[in-house]
Amino acid sequence: MTCICGSERLMNLYGHAKDLQNWRIPHLHHEDDGYAPKIPNVCEGDDIDFTFCLDCGHIQNFKQISDEFLIELLGIEETDSALGDEYE
Ligand SMILES: [Zn+2]
Repeated sequence: MTCICGSERLMNLYGHAKDLQNWRIPHLHHEDDGYAPKIPNVCEGDDIDFTFCLDCGHIQNFKQISDEFLIELLGIEETDSALGDEYE
């Protein structure tokens, strides 16, 4: 496998955490925990599993994710303000 930057220096990270995962999206004022949301080539359910480039940091096969996708996926309410300013 070769990164889009041309590097072959890649690292895979895998974690199995069941429902103990936590994520924060500061610009959407969202924080939650439980089973990981389905982010293609990053995480889903029990698992975090991604491969990233040790030179540029790009997550391999990562496709851009819009805020609209995240709001739908995570059920974020417009009034959701679980995060305070300390995370921004
Ligand atoms: Zn790279």
